Amino acid sequence: STAAADFTAILGHWEAERPDAPAVTFAGTTRTWAEFARRVRQNAAAQRAAGLRPGDRVAVLDLNHPSCVEMTLACAQVGTANAVVNFRLAPPEIVYVVNDSQARILFVGPEFAAAVAQVRDKLPAIEQIVHVGGDADEYEAWIGAHEPDHDVHPSAPGDCFVQLYTSGTTGFPKGAMLTHAGMLAHATNVMADFDVDADSRVQVAMPLFHVGGTSYVLLAIASGAHSFMMRMPDPAAALEMLERERITHTFYVPALMAAMLQVPGVADRDFSSVKALSYGASPMPLPVMRGCLKLFPDVMHQVYGMTEQCGVVSSLGPEDHTDPAVEHRLISAGTPIHGVEIEIRDPATGDPVATGEPGEIWVRSAQVMGGYWGKPEATAAAITEDGWLRSGDGGHMDADGYVYVTDRIKDMIISGGENIYPAEIERVLAEHPSVADVAVIGVPDERWGEVPKAVVVAAPGAGIDEAALLAWCREHLAAFKCPKSVDVLDELPRNPTGKILKKDLRKPYWEGKERQVV
Ligand code: ATP
Repeated sequence: STAAADFTAILGHWEAERPDAPAVTFAGTTRTWAEFARRVRQNAAAQRAAGLRPGDRVAVLDLNHPSCVEMTLACAQVGTANAVVNFRLAPPEIVYVVNDSQARILFVGPEFAAAVAQVRDKLPAIEQIVHVGGDADEYEAWIGAHEPDHDVHPSAPGDCFVQLYTSGTTGFPKGAMLTHAGMLAHATNVMADFDVDADSRVQVAMPLFHVGGTSYVLLAIASGAHSFMMRMPDPAAALEMLERERITHTFYVPALMAAMLQVPGVADRDFSSVKALSYGASPMPLPVMRGCLKLFPDVMHQVYGMTEQCGVVSSLGPEDHTDPAVEHRLISAGTPIHGVEIEIRDPATGDPVATGEPGEIWVRSAQVMGGYWGKPEATAAAITEDGWLRSGDGGHMDADGYVYVTDRIKDMIISGGENIYPAEIERVLAEHPSVADVAVIGVPDERWGEVPKAVVVAAPGAGIDEAALLAWCREHLAAFKCPKSVDVLDELPRNPTGKILKKDLRKPYWEGKERQVV
């Protein structure tokens, strides 16, 4: 481990300590710490030559590529910040995020060149577009024109160097300004929990625009570990890489793991190198969890986290996944990681609630973001004066200190004055053999204000019998929680990290009506 004060110092530390050890492998190319650090410093020189000043933004719109990590680290050195754009966005959303970031240079992967060319005139702040990869690799030329620059801008711990956008499941994406101090605290806190060190082989399977990608690769860098980066999350390719590269640490989202269980021959593979497989970002359905535990019996860590806290804030370790005496904990998100405080508060008054009672999950740690870029009101609404971040998640904490994440508070259903937690109903329906995937949403009702509706995807070869599903719910749930109707879809709308887009599912039912939220 390292006592360095920021990521520029960390990079210098590994460059000096392990110049010839592998730092990053991507698409068959491995670069050592010396090579990687040199490229970061060339990038810093190129940023300065392009006239970028501390506080300026650059933006990256690309599938995963090491240049994005080089950019982030060069930003740490120059005092600029890398706004990483979600590569699944539609062109108007790309325009929104790039303009919101006020980036001066946009780095674009080959898959996005045509889309960006079409909206070029709608990006007034962008002075230059640099294409990364592909036939004319302008990025290579852009950094290649410069000798490494060793000048380090003296950033304050609270300055931003990576700007990640919230996934926008509840509204427009907001740019969370992740700081030097926050990222360093996250890496240090998680390192202790997952036992990552300079001998670790870390797979970076999730997109870099998400904390599960960028914070995870920064954790590997802080640890001096060897990162193996994937261009895209792909279930078969990720498993193949696990085995071939003898990966020790990885992070997936539940939707990706559900797909992994369907990969032919998956049960016969050798995953014995894996020491910690973390998963999180959305609830893990129990049937998927059981399948994963067969493949990865002793290494599953659930993590609960959010962009605004640079990533992980609580985790459920392997023991809690396998000990039958604590089976009830399988639906919890574990206990706060080192350096993180979690409390359950009344979302209306901010007062702590009693143990076991539902409320909003509040989080306090050194990992907290500096704020939302350009949104002082949203920042003030999210972070209290004494440093608590309101997560927007509903949940409770049991007497042993385990956190249970139920739902986004905005997704809770208020029916006849009762709060209904969709997650509870979803868990019951997920256990029905005819159901492959499920979301429960509130739809308007004249009598109750709002009532639960189940939206389900049928299991392969199964048909959905609405009456049978509703009867199944009545068997397992109090009457007021039972869905009143069922919709069947071929697939649920999900964002790239596997979160179900409930606002999209709700939309047709709420046209012209106002929805009450807690
Ligand atoms: P927006 O604020 O724009 O709606 P978002 O909150 O979905 O975006 P992220 O920061 O990517 O953006 O996601 C954090 C959220 O993901 C958490 O607040 C929580 O709702 C959910 N989440 C993360 N980990 C878990 C987990 N282990 N179990 C259940 N939900 C989780």
